[in-house]
Amino acid sequence: MLNVEDIRKDFPILSREVNGKPLVYFDNAATSQTPQQVIDAIVDYYSNYNANIHRGVHTLSQEATDLYEQARQKIQAHFNAKHSYEIIFTSGTTHSINLVANGFSALLKKGDEIIVSALEHHSNIVPWQMLCERTGATLKVIPMNDDGELVMSEYDKLLSKNTKLVFTNHISNALGTINPIEYIIAKAHEVGAAVLIDGAQACPHIKPDVQDLDVDFYVASAHKMCGPTGMGMLYGKEEWLNKLPPYQGGGEMIAEVSFEKTTYADLPHKFEAGTPNIAGGIVFGTAIDYMNAIGFDAIAKYENELLEYGTQKLLEIEGLKIYGTSQHKTSVLSFNLEGIHPYDVGSILDKLGIAVRTGHHCAQPIMDYYKIPGTIRASFAFYNTKAEIDALVEGVKKAKMMLS
Ligand SMILES: *Cc1c(COP(=O)(O)O)cnc(C)c1O
Repeated sequence: MLNVEDIRKDFPILSREVNGKPLVYFDNAATSQTPQQVIDAIVDYYSNYNANIHRGVHTLSQEATDLYEQARQKIQAHFNAKHSYEIIFTSGTTHSINLVANGFSALLKKGDEIIVSALEHHSNIVPWQMLCERTGATLKVIPMNDDGELVMSEYDKLLSKNTKLVFTNHISNALGTINPIEYIIAKAHEVGAAVLIDGAQACPHIKPDVQDLDVDFYVASAHKMCGPTGMGMLYGKEEWLNKLPPYQGGGEMIAEVSFEKTTYADLPHKFEAGTPNIAGGIVFGTAIDYMNAIGFDAIAKYENELLEYGTQKLLEIEGLKIYGTSQHKTSVLSFNLEGIHPYDVGSILDKLGIAVRTGHHCAQPIMDYYKIPGTIRASFAFYNTKAEIDALVEGVKKAKMMLS
């Protein structure tokens, strides 16, 4: 069992006030809060180890390099990658996806097809559209249903020998739906296509096993799992990372440089040009340690309780509709009040110290499907409480009274 009162003490921001009220932070799907252990690790790095890595013979540089490479091994272990060099440090999910999309420019031709899902974040749509423009490949979309689930029978029909790549998120950030990625991966492999899974929204809640999934690429951002912003990872199977050309040129990524020809460094350095976010990489490891110490089973169980409680309480409000009603979902509640713009509700909740997200959540195609401008999204983390959900429900009732 997870002790939420103790856990809350690790997060200094949770004891601040907003607009004279105790902060209720329900925007976890946009970014998670940072525990003291991670904040301390950032201070420790800059106080004791700050140096550039992989280059210096001096002690500080070697210590910083060791810490950075240890963090890579922690991430390898967490995702169960076969080799630590299959973990590439990036600035986040968006960067990771662009790295893969750019690499595939060299591998695709006219007539090839890329399949994406209707539940994608914009960062997982735009790079593929750009890739299609560059290569002449076509983009196909797995449709969704009213519950906010992908329709697998339609996916089956889209697959063919022309399919070269399939992209979907593991969990939808707008609705919380957990997608059947095991099925998606297995079916794509039957036609010889590679699969990239966007795990940005899954990794705060579950621990993916990339070997077990047999996924080709898996990406995530540190800032959604108690780590720093501007930090993320790309897992790629060795054979795929070797096939892709480098994304950016610069220091760190070369073996030998002359004006006639440059040869590239081995993995992972081939994809890590320039001085990286060293502190960010190290404390990404700290954040993963922190979450593992609590345990992903305990986190999932507790968040499911919050989800059930929140769903039930919100549905007691007349005229409130929840979007994303799959049986397989995480602790995201996307909803609207009949006849009221989500933005107005969000503003009133903010006055009450309650942070929710309003709008299209970088997933406009989903909003178009439901024919709505956006939703109010409350997303819960393991440090939230039922009392906070009560405050949200009271706030929504108040907003409804004031706005109707
Ligand atoms: C947040 C998010 C992203 C983008 O992550 P960045 O850290 O902004 O690069 C992509 N996909 C999903 C599903 C997300 O939730």
